Amino acid sequence: MAKNNQEFVTQIASRSEDFPQWYTDVIKKTDMVDYSDVKGFMVIKPYGYGVWELMQSEMDARFKATGHKNAYFPLLIPESLLIKEAEHVEGFAPEVAWVTHGGSEELPERLCIRPTSETIICSMYSKWIQSYRDLPLLINQWANVVRWEKSTRPFLRTSEFLWQEGHTAHATFEDAQEETIRMLEVYREFSENVLAIPVVVGRKSEKEKFAGAYATYTMEAMMQDGKALQMGTSHNLSDHFARAYDITYLSKEGKLEYCYTTSWGTSTRMIGGIIMVHGDDRGLVLPPKAAPVQAVVLPIAMHKEGVREKAGELFDMLKKAGIRAELDDGDQSAGWKFNQWEMKGVPLRIEVGPKDIEKNQAVLVRRDNLEKLFVPMDGIAGTVEELLKDIHVGLYKKALAMRESKTVEASDFEEFSQGVKNGFVKAMWCGERECETSIKEKTGATTRCIPFEQRHITDKCVHCGKEAKHMVFFARAY
Ligand SMILES: [Zn+2]
Repeated sequence: MAKNNQEFVTQIASRSEDFPQWYTDVIKKTDMVDYSDVKGFMVIKPYGYGVWELMQSEMDARFKATGHKNAYFPLLIPESLLIKEAEHVEGFAPEVAWVTHGGSEELPERLCIRPTSETIICSMYSKWIQSYRDLPLLINQWANVVRWEKSTRPFLRTSEFLWQEGHTAHATFEDAQEETIRMLEVYREFSENVLAIPVVVGRKSEKEKFAGAYATYTMEAMMQDGKALQMGTSHNLSDHFARAYDITYLSKEGKLEYCYTTSWGTSTRMIGGIIMVHGDDRGLVLPPKAAPVQAVVLPIAMHKEGVREKAGELFDMLKKAGIRAELDDGDQSAGWKFNQWEMKGVPLRIEVGPKDIEKNQAVLVRRDNLEKLFVPMDGIAGTVEELLKDIHVGLYKKALAMRESKTVEASDFEEFSQGVKNGFVKAMWCGERECETSIKEKTGATTRCIPFEQRHITDKCVHCGKEAKHMVFFARAY
């Protein structure tokens, strides 16, 4: 069954020739997902789900550290509940899936499969919140949602996806705003420190904001093809949902007041981001903190005396140190195994052969830069831990350099149109919806965010020439 290196690598399209095909090859050939019988619904296989579980546990710890508790709300939402917030229902109606029958009986009221849970959670909050003592109410839910999509791609856009949605209620607008920004910051820190993905953070335009929100904040990452991926959003819902769902509380002064609510979410979509930010022509490159296998131990020339035993010892040492290690003592050739684990993006490969045993060393190969290191067996777990940290930093820096090399400032529409073909464009914008629509029609680019870090480039809107309101990041997006 031995296959040589070249043969194996050619199973994956090259990124420069066909980026979309490369993406499809990678997710299929690394066993992350499979397609199901229902179009747009993906099966997340153990390797892909393993990445999600690690992301979940890292995020969950952050949510709890900021005072949130997990709960679970029903999958089905009565139509009467969904339609209470007018903008919200208008935004989501086109992609809602409906349940109309229970067994063979038609239901008196159709039920929607949650596309997001503001409506059902707010209806419960209106019962649970009575006085200022009940505030803030800080709840997160880990769940699946369904949004009926016309064209789908695994992880990036699927009709069902897994996510977390935080829903909080506060006494004042300021408290809600503080929460909205706090959670955006949690997301940013998670993206950078766990996924090694640098993000641009800021506010969404009115056109791009969440349906029913007062303001939406986002973190946007650049993929290697220069397109943006929205990695997570945090919404200040002001009192919009509180008024629609009657969430009130009795203040200290004994006055009945409306609450201010927020919601924030991230999803399995981020896995698509990991693939498209870090991957290379050999396949996946996983950031160590989101890698189900951080180090794979490969015995070389297994038939030679002592090799298996030594590899086993090494594997045990790594496990004991809390490193997610795997021992591959299968009967495939070493070359086949190298390719397999490289394709799966395992951060470190550790080889142990007869010569290494003689020298009391192991050979470590980094997945990020393919550097080969000869490391003494004594204290090797510590060396591996250090290298994993180093790989994280290296991946982050590489991704940041890639983003910077594909980001330009545009002061006229010609520069703008050229820039968005390649990556992000920073440009001044008037803030008007028609202008935004027209830019999209002409270039395919949308406003990604109005970044917190503003810079003055010109006085006039890059497209229509009206007075500019902000500097905005524009890009084509997934
Ligand atoms: Zn304009």
